[in-house]
Amino acid sequence: MTDLHSFIAGLPKAELHVHHVGSASPRIVAALAAAHPDSRVPTDPEALVDYFTFTDFAHFIDVYLSVVDLIRTPEDVRLLTFEVARDMARQNIRYAELTITPFSSTRRGIDERAFMAAIEDAREAAERELGVVLRWCFDIPGEAGLEAAEETTRLAVDLRPEGLVSFGLGGPEIGVARPQFKSYFDRAIAAGLRSVPHAGETTGPETIWDALNDLRAERIGHGTSATQDPALLAHLAEHRIPLEVCPTSNIATRAVLDLDQHPIKEMVAAGVLVTVNSDDPPMFGTDLNTEYGVAARLLGLDERGVAELAKNAVEASFLDSSGKTRISSEIDAYTQAWLAP
Ligand SMILES: [Zn+2]
Repeated sequence: MTDLHSFIAGLPKAELHVHHVGSASPRIVAALAAAHPDSRVPTDPEALVDYFTFTDFAHFIDVYLSVVDLIRTPEDVRLLTFEVARDMARQNIRYAELTITPFSSTRRGIDERAFMAAIEDAREAAERELGVVLRWCFDIPGEAGLEAAEETTRLAVDLRPEGLVSFGLGGPEIGVARPQFKSYFDRAIAAGLRSVPHAGETTGPETIWDALNDLRAERIGHGTSATQDPALLAHLAEHRIPLEVCPTSNIATRAVLDLDQHPIKEMVAAGVLVTVNSDDPPMFGTDLNTEYGVAARLLGLDERGVAELAKNAVEASFLDSSGKTRISSEIDAYTQAWLAP
């Protein structure tokens, strides 16, 4: 490991774009698959690495849904959530906004109140035992349409668990226009949730404009195609609307052809507040530390530059100001100690 990678590994970090089921590492998936032997998911962690090698975005969604199928009981939900936090703690992630798709579980028959209790139990245990502060983003699985939007909104607004801070929209973008979800986002925002839809990952900048104008996005999930529209980049920079950039995910899903063509450098050059995230890390063979290493290479950053990137995520988070100050101070103290002669 190089000095810079050692620095990144120990750096206190926040993560803003990472999915609940998509964070299930082979270790966690193997445990869930063993509990449900009728599933088609392999139980051997080595076979899982092959299983998680994708040919395209549609294939990724297919594999992802097969892992969703392993989450059948409130105990599965609790185990997954706490073990994801354990993987975060090992990377010195201090705070994460974890995107959860409750519709996938309630549709499968998990009692909605038991589901909320399971994630909250895991959240409290993660903070107490691992020092990882978790918050939730409930997202609409776009491919499941307006029925899923209605259900997700009802769960978010009526059953709102204590850790819930934001409302999102995921799944495929092609053929799933953002404006149709406007009324659901209006209800979530009226209830005090923050708007963080995915947009412009596999479609053009017009989808990002739709997310801003119709869904009142405060951050954009991915926003990869923003660099195709200079007016949009200027708008994002001027209004301090952060992008949640996930470099390796973009390659795995073929949203970007290769890392050297990733537009992160143009985003930063345009003055956009860029955060680095891992999306569905084990499924893409990555983790947040690896993504920081990728970003450091693409942006030509040293330790101070990487620390600034980590502070971007704190600034762009939905933490309160004392929470932001606490993690930013940890980042500064760690960086100063590292660079001290
Ligand atoms: Zn995502």
